[in-house]
Order: sequence, then structure tokens, then C-alpha cells
Amino acid sequence: MARQLSLITAVDGNQHCADCGAPDPVWGSINIGVAVCIECSGVHRSLGAHLTKVRSFQLDVLDPGTLEILFAIGNTKANHVWEATLGPEEKPIASATREVKNDFILSKYQNGSFLPPALRGPQQQFQEAVLEAAKEGNAALLAASLKVADEKGEMTATEGDALLPAMFAAAAGGHEAVLRLIINEGNVNNLAVCDMQGNTARQIAGEAGHETLEKILEDAILAAAAIAAEEAARAVVAAAKAATEAGGATEAMSATAPGPGHPLRPPSAVTPP
Ligand SMILES: [Zn+2]
Repeated sequence: MARQLSLITAVDGNQHCADCGAPDPVWGSINIGVAVCIECSGVHRSLGAHLTKVRSFQLDVLDPGTLEILFAIGNTKANHVWEATLGPEEKPIASATREVKNDFILSKYQNGSFLPPALRGPQQQFQEAVLEAAKEGNAALLAASLKVADEKGEMTATEGDALLPAMFAAAAGGHEAVLRLIINEGNVNNLAVCDMQGNTARQIAGEAGHETLEKILEDAILAAAAIAAEEAARAVVAAAKAATEAGGATEAMSATAPGPGHPLRPPSAVTPP
């Protein structure tokens, strides 16, 4: 644990909170890739896990894939993106009130107010920025783009004339953290997409000799298949249950219909006690 913390805090910029500059942060967001102080972590938590996933670097055991993302981003690179258009005097300091920090963090991550123009621009510009991030292995930019992808529709990047999910560029370039971010938050259906030559992202990674990435994609395909199988099994169980209930209802209806054993039956048929 101590080693985990020291490795994370060694990343560029992680010696101070990404949002208020307080020293020695031990909390962080594992999908945005920043280290934050305990107070700012509380604000992050209030934004919801769909936007920022908060963990303690001291108390939570982080898996190697998560650490890979944290090592690839860090506060300096993340702020280069999330605070691209922020003036130096606009950022709160460690002694600022919680309300001030709260407003800032909301503007920064929820509204994306200080993101680079490319990520806030029209669809095509956004897609080009995503493709560039995936190609270069710019995990900080990619992580931010995944947060605005919802508003921009499916995250599909342009490569020449073809439209391909950004995971293809990450797989070809061998960028592990970028690929993990895409798989964690992207569209699982993209795992089955083929390029013009009929290759999936997994095959692209394999052909390029990126064994680790090939394995990551393979695991993601298996995980997606397991989820799909579980959903299908659950649907069968639900259908069987509904059929049983429908059958039971028919029986119940016939049981309440007038017949022998009902008050309409002649009194003589009643067995004496
Ligand atoms: Zn802070």
C-alpha cells in the first residue's frame, strides 16, 4: 500500500491536489487520472461515479490496469487538458472555502468549462482530437474526451475515409492506458467492429506485436460475452417464471369458479362432523 501511494505520488504534478493545490493528496479519481486532497475528493464523489470514480490511494488496493492509467496521466498532464483555457487567478487555493472549491470542480469536470476548444468544438473536430489522442497515446486527453463523448454521440474516430472506433488507433500504437480507458468506458460493441481488411482491434494489436494489448482486448471480449450470456440466462429465467405464474393464475381462476364443494352444493352432501 505504501508502495502504491509512493508510486502514484511520484507522477508529475501529484505532489499537490489537482484542484486546489493542497500538498500531499492521498485520494484520487481513477478514470480522470488525478490525485486530489480529501476535501476535493468529497466534491468529486458528489459528482457521481459516471463522471469521476474516487478511490483512496492509501486504503484501496488498485489493480495493475488502474495503476497503469494513473501513471500515464497524473495532475500535470490532466490539468493541461481540463484547465487548458483557465486563467491562473481563476483557480482556488488550498485555503479556499469548500463552496469555492465545489463550484470550481463542477465547472472543471461536470461542465468542462476549461477544456481545449477541440473537445468543445463540433463533432468532426472532436473526433479528430480523439483520434489524435489515441494515436499519440495521450491518456489525459483521451480520458477527458470520454467524459464529453456522451454529448457527442458514439466515440468514433476518422482514419482516412473509414470511420473506426478510437480503440483501433490505441491498439495499433500500443498505448495501454488509452486502450484501458476506452475499454472501461467505451462502447463494448466496438470490440466486434472490423476495419476494411476485416480485422478487429484485437487482431490489429496482435499483428503489431502488442501482446499485452491483445490480451487486454481478449479479456474485454470474454467479459462482454459473459455479461451477454448472463443477461440471456436471466431473460430465460424471467420468461419461465412468467409462464409459471400465468399457469398458476389459470389454476387459481378454475379453483374459484363455482363447482362441487361450493355453497351452491346441496346441503345433503355435507359430511356430518
Ligand atoms: Zn484539493
